[in-house]
Amino acid sequence: MSDTSEQKKKTQKRRPRRRLSRQEENRRRFLRAGVVTGAIVALQPVFSWVSRRFGRLRLRPPGALEEETTFLGACIKCGQCVQVCPVEAILLADLNDGLGHGAPYIEPRDQACDFSCDALSCILACPTGALSHELGAKEEVSIGIAKLSRPDACLARRGEGFRGPARGGQFPGRLRYEEIDRWVPQPVRDYEYDVELCDLCVRECPIGTTALRLEPLPDGKGSTPVVGDACVGCGVCEMICPEEPTCIEIIPSAAEARA
Ligand code: SF4
Ligand code: SF4
Repeated sequence: MSDTSEQKKKTQKRRPRRRLSRQEENRRRFLRAGVVTGAIVALQPVFSWVSRRFGRLRLRPPGALEEETTFLGACIKCGQCVQVCPVEAILLADLNDGLGHGAPYIEPRDQACDFSCDALSCILACPTGALSHELGAKEEVSIGIAKLSRPDACLARRGEGFRGPARGGQFPGRLRYEEIDRWVPQPVRDYEYDVELCDLCVRECPIGTTALRLEPLPDGKGSTPVVGDACVGCGVCEMICPEEPTCIEIIPSAAEARA
């Protein structure tokens, strides 16, 4: 390489960078922000698809917007619904839920939504409408649908009864037993059952026989729980089933839509 070209290079290296005017800096910043925003918007359908396809499906509180990604977009994770639930059925998801991180959900085996508040408290508390304010009664709720997932273990199908507290003496869950107190949910562990044929899920269903009923089996000994169209997926049947693990479970609405 000639001396002249090396000198040229050195001079170029040493040349101070031209300072950008404030206007130019702002323009660059604006362009950078535009590119990032554009990329996020362009990838939104991909995020939605990944969340629908692989995301962990949760049972959402009453009134949750039907489409999971719409619900997650509308929910600001403020936890207002958690604060007002009289049976503390609503939890907030941790980082394991990915895109659903911080969003409210219900784990009915531990504590179902028993409509102690007639399904309005969480909806009224939601500031964004992620829990739809258009819902007027518990019969209009659509959290999911019950499914007899372990029919062979079901006591009713085996023609067996049940005696004692449904979930044992340590279970912390609560339920509205109307005959005790219409407004104050009672600890499930304090309530003793004594039935010749288990029907706990049916008798505690807050919607009634249009949601869950017992039908005799042809063997003449047992009966089977049958889920009806009116089931709202509140999860009381899953919580109260005395078998371990439960014989009846709630399938989230989003999973139904996906199936
Ligand atoms: S069957 Fe009844 S108790 Fe079970 S989820 Fe449906 S509405 Fe709730
Ligand atoms: S409570 Fe459980 S065991 Fe009893 S009838 Fe219902 S599903 Fe069967």
